[in-house]
Amino acid sequence: MILSQSNLSKNPSNQNLDEFRYNKKIPKIIEHNVLIALSHYPELKNTPISFVFKKDIKKSVMQAQPIIGSLLGGKDSRAYRINISSMFKLTHSVTPIHQLPDSIMIGWIGHELGHIMDYEHKSTFGMIAFGLGYFFYEKSLKKAEVAADTYAVNHGLGAYILDTKRFILDNSDLPEVYKKRIARLYLSPDDIVEQIKKLEEAKIKGAIK
Ligand SMILES: [Zn+2]
Repeated sequence: MILSQSNLSKNPSNQNLDEFRYNKKIPKIIEHNVLIALSHYPELKNTPISFVFKKDIKKSVMQAQPIIGSLLGGKDSRAYRINISSMFKLTHSVTPIHQLPDSIMIGWIGHELGHIMDYEHKSTFGMIAFGLGYFFYEKSLKKAEVAADTYAVNHGLGAYILDTKRFILDNSDLPEVYKKRIARLYLSPDDIVEQIKKLEEAKIKGAIK
């Protein structure tokens, strides 16, 4: 398995990451990468989010979800949890998740934070309706995945998202069923490149105005 090295140029501003710890619970071993991902989402600075290692998550490696009880308190009191499978299972091997290359972890967490951004823009009723749709209809599942990737790209995580996608799709040791699911439900690497291009173009246009 060829693992790409983390690319420091993706994070040129060596800002203080401590300010992104507020209201977050992060296991020490993945803390740095989680904080880098969080630093791209200043809107989530005060939002309570717990990052929780799980032994097994059905059909996925990470999963962002609202804490159900917090939905009742209204939009401002919402809290979220990102479940993280402690093991990255391949067909012939198992890797502890924290041993994945940094850029892959940042991309993956960045995608999950994109889901939380998407949730933040939904009403309580919308969240419940979405929750029901999410589990039953592939169409709404795909819509949610596209939204999460789009948030991540627009928050400057495009290069990481691309790394993560290529890592999954090019990994010959991943179960075919999983790769097919990713190809079906998620934006393709080409879609992401296209999105990054559009974002760059919009930035240039904005600078000229
Ligand atoms: Zn997702």
